[in-house]
Amino acid sequence: MAEAALVAAEYGGTVPRLLAAHGYGPDKSVTAAAVTGGGWVRCSVPGCTYTGAEASVRNHEAKPHKETA
Ligand SMILES: [Zn+2]
Repeated sequence: MAEAALVAAEYGGTVPRLLAAHGYGPDKSVTAAAVTGGGWVRCSVPGCTYTGAEASVRNHEAKPHKETA
């Protein structure tokens, strides 16, 4: 809840504005930054763009993946 309150107080309640305030946007991916500096990992399945904390990615990888062309 503290995070939500901070977002509301500082960024008008919108995550896009929060991201923009930190310089993130279409040209700077916040997920890429999380991988680089935040300890996030990418799904190891080729073609899959899922990114997240390691435990959640391992969980995700265990699920069936659709074939990607
Ligand atoms: Zn995946």
